[in-house]
Amino acid sequence: MALSAMEIYKLLPQTNCGDCGHPTCLAFAMQLANKQVSLDDCPHVSEEAKNELASASAPPIQLSKVGAGEQELELGKETVMYRHEETFHNQPGLGALVSDDLSDDELAEKFAEFKQFSFERIGEIIEFELVGVRNDSGDPDRFAEVVGLLLDNTDQIPALVSDDPEAIEKAFAENSALADKRPLIYAATADNCEELAAIAADKDAALVVEGNDLDELAELTPAVKEAGVENIFLNSGAEGPLENLQDVTQIRRQALNKSFRPLGYPTATLVEGDDPHELLLDASTFTCKYNDIILIEDAKAWQALPLTVLRQNIYTDPRVPPTVEAKAFEVGDEVGEDAPVLLTTNFALTYFTVASEVETSRVPSYILTVDTEGQSVLTAYSSENLNAEIAAKALKESGLEDKLAHKEVILPGYIAVMSGSLEVESGWDVVVGPREASGIPAFLRDYTPGEGQ
Ligand code: SF4
Repeated sequence: MALSAMEIYKLLPQTNCGDCGHPTCLAFAMQLANKQVSLDDCPHVSEEAKNELASASAPPIQLSKVGAGEQELELGKETVMYRHEETFHNQPGLGALVSDDLSDDELAEKFAEFKQFSFERIGEIIEFELVGVRNDSGDPDRFAEVVGLLLDNTDQIPALVSDDPEAIEKAFAENSALADKRPLIYAATADNCEELAAIAADKDAALVVEGNDLDELAELTPAVKEAGVENIFLNSGAEGPLENLQDVTQIRRQALNKSFRPLGYPTATLVEGDDPHELLLDASTFTCKYNDIILIEDAKAWQALPLTVLRQNIYTDPRVPPTVEAKAFEVGDEVGEDAPVLLTTNFALTYFTVASEVETSRVPSYILTVDTEGQSVLTAYSSENLNAEIAAKALKESGLEDKLAHKEVILPGYIAVMSGSLEVESGWDVVVGPREASGIPAFLRDYTPGEGQ
């Protein structure tokens, strides 16, 4: 049962020393009650109080891990129902699912395709992190063989989708590399819970626990935990997206609002069916709420693109605008002393839009990003985070003067009004560029630095 801020406060030293980064013990207690700080932040709390506060300090949704080394994913530990209340912390792991009924040639083709589910967006590489094999053949030997092919041909985290303990055991026995990868075993049910929990505990694998409903699920998870499985994921056995949505919402409510420990774990689901468009819609719903691992049957690259973009948008902290470093970026090959200089802000979306248009123009250029705390050009100008003085300072600190044979900068058309004052402040010539980034390629093709426009 969660403790109130006052109950927590009574157990703290009440010295208001400030060592936890909060001015008073009460302020710290309020943060702890909201699960926004860790009890470890107070170095003075007694062992006795620590034990009493354990339930208040433990995250309501456990952090579970899958994968190892560079591939390791941390999932769960979410603290809010709605993103606007704070932020969602650990974005779901996305993966593709294949059948062990496919031929080796078909599998090789699919594994090669899955490797390509990776691209860059606003400076971040986004990709599918898992590949699952489903034991449709019912044959443990074939399952183990396909898991071996998966390990040989992909770098992603393996997911073993079978309710047959013999097949799972065989996959580990025949593939010694598997245990080092902390794979996902999908799924322990009331029928096989004991055997699969024993394998997962022994191999330090992550385990999905599946119930026929939430009541059964809540009965199974304590037993799995008791068996020594550290990394647990939940599946309610829901059929279809509506039921899934209802169940994962209920799981999160119970964990966050009622501190109900048996459901305080991240979730996992399979997205299965024949219609790839329907699969994409379902996977999108599951990405929005509240599934932490999503394995999509026979996933295609065209499904990966919108899904990973959706995921990136939802799991970006709404309180912190995405930014790039404030500096002079070189865009294009051999950016020389005659290269144009385009000034913009360090809002990531603005920078990457401008950079993409400069690349399209094929004119090697500098893009000077001014630190506006992630505000776009017009917002920054309106809020005085971008003015002639700040832009002049950025020009000076960029070191561009030493690299260029000219002193001319292109200002975004929307803030043309600033051009005169920037010339005075910086000593640079200022040329007014296009208002929209889409006008940059045509602008640059007709532009010679030092000659104005
Ligand atoms: S460090 Fe501990 S004792 Fe000091 S103010 Fe914070 S909660 Fe209170």
